[in-house]
Amino acid sequence: MDISATTNIYGIFGHPVSHSLSPIMHNRAFEGLGLDCVYLGFDIEPGSLTSAVNAIKTLNLKGINITIPHKEAMVNQLDDLTEPVILTGAVNTIKNENGRLVGYNTDVPGVMRAIKEEFNFDPQYKNAFIVGAGGASRAVIAGMCLNGARQIVIANRTLSKADILKKRFTDQYQNVVFSTVSLNDQEKIKRLLPESNIIVNASSAGMVDIPPLELPLETVPKDCPVYDLVYNPIVSPLVRQAREFGLKAESGLGMLLYQGVEAFEIWTGKKAPVDSMREVLLGSR
Ligand code: NAP
Repeated sequence: MDISATTNIYGIFGHPVSHSLSPIMHNRAFEGLGLDCVYLGFDIEPGSLTSAVNAIKTLNLKGINITIPHKEAMVNQLDDLTEPVILTGAVNTIKNENGRLVGYNTDVPGVMRAIKEEFNFDPQYKNAFIVGAGGASRAVIAGMCLNGARQIVIANRTLSKADILKKRFTDQYQNVVFSTVSLNDQEKIKRLLPESNIIVNASSAGMVDIPPLELPLETVPKDCPVYDLVYNPIVSPLVRQAREFGLKAESGLGMLLYQGVEAFEIWTGKKAPVDSMREVLLGSR
C-alpha cells in the first residue's frame, strides 16, 4: 500500500481500540480493490468525543466506524441519521459526505445478512428468542422487526433492562408481539423456547472469561437455528452445546464480517471483497 498526500483516510473511534479487527479487515479490502485508502485506529476518550467529531470534518476523514463506548453518544453529534440508527439509538458507521456526517448502524443489516447466509433464515412471520438487552441486542431486535418478525422474546439477566427494550420497540412496532423473561426463570424459558424459530445470543455470556448461558436446549425444536454473537472464542460454549443437541449453530464472526462489508460498501460505493475480508478475520483467530 503506497500512502501519499492524497490517500483517503478511514478509521475507527473507540476506547480501547487496540483489540479491533476492523483495521486489518478494511485495509485488506482497500488493497484488494486497489483503492488509495487507509484505515486506522483512533483511541478516543469519552470526554474527547466532540473534538474527535470536529476532526472528522477538519481532517476530511472519509468514513469512521464507532465502537464501545461511543455508539450511543455519537448519535447526537451527526448531521443526518438513517433508520436503523433511530431504531437502535446507536451508530457504528459514519460517512463524511462533503462535510455532512451521516450516521448508519451496519450491525443491523450485518447480523441479518450473517443469519441469512449461515442458516438461510428469513425472519418474516417468525418467532425470535433473543438473549441480552444491551447494544447488540438492540441491533438484532431492530433487524428482526425491519424484516417482518411476528414475535420477539427478550431474555436478560436483568429483567428491567429487557422491559425497557420491550417498551422502546413496542412503541415503534405495534404489529410485533414482544415479551420478556429473566434468565433465572427457567420454567418460563422452557415454555417459550419450543415456540422459537431462531435463538440469538446477543449477551456477553460465553465470551472468554464470562460464564456461558445455561439454556434448556433440549426443549428447542430441531429445526431452530442458534446464532451466537460471541466470536471470542470462535466456537463459543453455546454453539458447542447447541451442536451437541443436533441444532444448527454458528458464532458471530459472520456479523463482524458483514457489518464491515456494509460499511465498506456505504463508504466506497463498490462491492466489498467479502472472501478476502473473511479470510483476514479467520486468520486473526
Ligand atoms: P452490552 O451493551 O454491554 O450488553 C451486555 C449484555 O450481556 C447485557 O444484556 C448483560 O446483561 C449481558 N450479560 C453480561 N454478562 C452476562 C452473564 N454472565 N450472563 C448473562 N448475561 C450477561 O454489550 P453489547 O455491545 O450488547 O455486546 C454483547 C455481546 O455481543 C458481546 O459479547 C459482544 O462481543 C458481542 N457483539 C458481537 C458483535 C459481532 O459483530 N459479532 C457485534 C456487537 C456485539 P445485564 O443487562 O444483566 O447486565
